[in-house]
Amino acid sequence: MAPVAMSAAAQSIAGAKPLSFWLDDPGRPEALPALTGDEHCDLLVIGAGYSGLWTALLAKEREPERDVVLIEGRETGWAASGRNGGFCAASLTHGLPNGLERWPDEIKKLEELGARNLDAIEEAVARYGIDCEFERTGEIDVATQPHQLEELREWHQELERRGFGGVEFLDGDALRAHVDSPTFLGGLWDRRGVAMLNPAKLAWGLKQACLDLGVRIYENTRGLELARTGTGMAVRTPAGRVLARRVALGTNIFPSLVKRVRPYTVPVYDYALMTEPLTADQLAAIGWKNRQGLGDSANQFHYFRLSADNRILWGGYDAIYPYGGRLSAALDQRPETFLKLAGQFFACFPQLAGVRFTHAWGGAIDTCSRFSAFFGTAHQGRVAYAAGYTGLGVGATRFGADVMLDLLAGEETERTALEMVRSKPMPFPPEPLAWAGIELTKRSLARADDNGGHRDLWLRTMDRLGLGFDS
Ligand SMILES: Cc1cc2nc3c(=O)[nH]c(=O)nc-3n(C[C@H](O)[C@H](O)[C@H](O)COP(=O)(O)OP(=O)(O)OC[C@H]3O[C@@H](n4cnc5c(N)ncnc54)[C@H](O)[C@@H]3O)c2cc1C
Repeated sequence: MAPVAMSAAAQSIAGAKPLSFWLDDPGRPEALPALTGDEHCDLLVIGAGYSGLWTALLAKEREPERDVVLIEGRETGWAASGRNGGFCAASLTHGLPNGLERWPDEIKKLEELGARNLDAIEEAVARYGIDCEFERTGEIDVATQPHQLEELREWHQELERRGFGGVEFLDGDALRAHVDSPTFLGGLWDRRGVAMLNPAKLAWGLKQACLDLGVRIYENTRGLELARTGTGMAVRTPAGRVLARRVALGTNIFPSLVKRVRPYTVPVYDYALMTEPLTADQLAAIGWKNRQGLGDSANQFHYFRLSADNRILWGGYDAIYPYGGRLSAALDQRPETFLKLAGQFFACFPQLAGVRFTHAWGGAIDTCSRFSAFFGTAHQGRVAYAAGYTGLGVGATRFGADVMLDLLAGEETERTALEMVRSKPMPFPPEPLAWAGIELTKRSLARADDNGGHRDLWLRTMDRLGLGFDS
């Protein structure tokens, strides 16, 4: 039998390394030694993703004398914080439409706090000299189907009516003058509300800033158990204990040390590819001049952006929920999704035929049923947690860190007064209901994409109940 020719998409991913492009960096810092013996501190932070790192950093900024320890089960930024798309959004609510739907009365405040939060990230990056390729380019939401274009146009009019500025409607020609794809029909450019950055370099830079302010960091040190002692908490680790007055949990989708928090999130695996660096001619062929991040507006959407060395990161589309919510390194690789993503990439940018992908990876997103973070305390206010960022945590985790510190201080602030902070999402039901509900939702969302955006009875019911599924 004659050998079957490999498709162009299969060829393009054939040599891709199975790991996050961002983490595959010679500048990746060595892990710090694990904790052995006992430690004492005012504040223990658990988890060295953005949540934990911002919490430790802001704690020191608020009160330089505070004794802060951070423990990380593996290495700083190895999980979602080192694998994401690097879209650092001002939105605290997984986008304005979601926030407007859920918290119409406080959305102005949430948007204002979000904008301040993004400005503060930009300032911190400059102040601590964090070389994370921060570029405040904004993001363009792209329509690739006529009904999406209509929706974007209507949404733009509504934004203007409600007084949300800074967003520009681009018709097909105007959009293709920014980035040229035959599939682009038009878009909305949020000029200031999103920055692009190198995710792993942000995590590593925050780690260094924490160390410079005197935070003691132990890596490969998993917190195994929380227990009350006197007026504080004791956290058991494999080779020691940390005795702390207060504990902040930045543990994202990993099993929370406060068990009752676990049903609020499910892991949803999201995947991305990174191309080789484009040549000047390739870049000219797609005319991507202003380096904005892009996302298309389907339910099953793609996000894509340029790296500092002019590669294209292309991610999204499939959102995979593993039965039982089990986390597994094996799920970080999904060849059928990579193949699908590569085919969709060349459909979007046929000018780039022949470009190869150098990296292919995935990671777990902490999805909750309202798509935006929730917060709370346990053990009589000695422990605070924040989780549920659902695919938009690069920026919002800094806000969540501030909320955790407010809660631990027992302070009423403009943040803790928010309904968004005081309320919780609906928890996910146990299996097999969670799996069945999520699969049904995913199928309905895919059907809606193929059917002019029409939402079926199931989706309309979920919408009415304020429940959903996203990545
Ligand atoms: C593929 C992908 C693409 C994404 N793209 C974007 C994007 O473009 N924009 C955006 O805004 N968001 C995006 N996200 C989401 C974003 O990455 C996350 O919201 C954010 O990184 C969450 O940060 P975190 O610190 O809460 O979690 P993580 O980065 O997951 O960190 C949690 C840390 O806690 C540690 N830990 C857990 N339990 C323990 C324990 N018991 N003891 C010690 N340590 C523990 C873990 O080892 C881990 O390092 C994406 C996510 C993925 C997976």
